[in-house]
Amino acid sequence: MALLKVSNIETYYGPVMAIKGVSLEVQPGQIAAILGANGAGKTTILKTISGVMEPQKGDVRFRDESVAHVEPHEIVRRGISHVPEGREVFHDLTVRENLMLGSYLRRDRSGIQRDLESVYGYFPVLRERGRQRAGSLSGGEQQMLAIARALMARPALLLMDEPSLGLSPLLVREIFGIIKRINEEQSTAILMVEQNARMALSLAHYGYILELGRIVMADTCANLMENEDVKEFYLGIKEQSVRDAKRWRRKKKWR
Ligand code: ATP
Repeated sequence: MALLKVSNIETYYGPVMAIKGVSLEVQPGQIAAILGANGAGKTTILKTISGVMEPQKGDVRFRDESVAHVEPHEIVRRGISHVPEGREVFHDLTVRENLMLGSYLRRDRSGIQRDLESVYGYFPVLRERGRQRAGSLSGGEQQMLAIARALMARPALLLMDEPSLGLSPLLVREIFGIIKRINEEQSTAILMVEQNARMALSLAHYGYILELGRIVMADTCANLMENEDVKEFYLGIKEQSVRDAKRWRRKKKWR
C-alpha cells in the first residue's frame, strides 16, 4: 500500500486554479520526484500535502487516512515534515534552537536527544555551529539546517522543495548524497520537487513531470531518463547535440 496517495486534487489561489486534477503516490521508503518548469505548480502540490493549502477537490491520504482538511501541525504529528522552498530557518534563533523547534510536538526526551545526535551525524557542521545564529550560516548550511530541523520531527515522509536552489554544484552533490543516506539508513520516504532534473532523476526511484498544473508523465526514473522528451526538455541533451551539430557544421565551412 502507498504511504502517500494524492488523488485528483485541485488547489486554487483565489480564482486561479494552480493544480488541476493531480494524482501521485509515494511508496514506503521510496524517493519520488516532481519535475517541472517555473510556475508549473510544484510548490503548490507540496503545500497541499502538508496542509498549508487546502484542496478544493480530491483527496490526500497518508497511511490510508485522509489528511486533505487536517491542520498542518497535526499533519506533522502524523509523520509528514516539509522542508520549504528557500529554507525558512529562524534567523534570530541559534542552530540548536532551530533544531529543537523541529521536535516541538514530541514528548520522548531520550528519542529527541538520539535524533539530535543522528542529525549531527549527517550534518557535522551543525554541531560545530550549534550556538551560532542561524541567520549567520551560509546558504548551504541553512539548507542543511532546514533538512535537519524537518528530521527532528521523526517523519515517515519528508517533503523537500528545491533543495538545490541557489547552491553550488559541489554543495548540491553533497546535500543529495546526504538525502540518499537518510533515505537508505532511516527508510524515510521522500517527495522532492526539483528544477535540477538530472540530480533528481539520478536520486529518485519514481518521477512525475508537471506542466501547467497537470501531471503529463509518470514513470520510473530509469525510464524517464531514457525518454526522448524528457531528455530534450529537462535534461537538455538534444539541445547539446544540436549545438554540437551547429559547431561541427561551422567547423566544416572553415576547412
Ligand atoms: P517555482 O519553481 O517557480 O517555485 P512552482 O512549480 O513551484 O514554481 P507554484 O509556486 O506552485 O509553482 O505556482 C503555481 C501557479 O500558482 C503559478 O502560476 C503561480 O503564479 C501561481 N501562484 C503561486 N503562488 C501564488 C499566490 N500566492 N497567489 C497567486 N498565485 C500564485
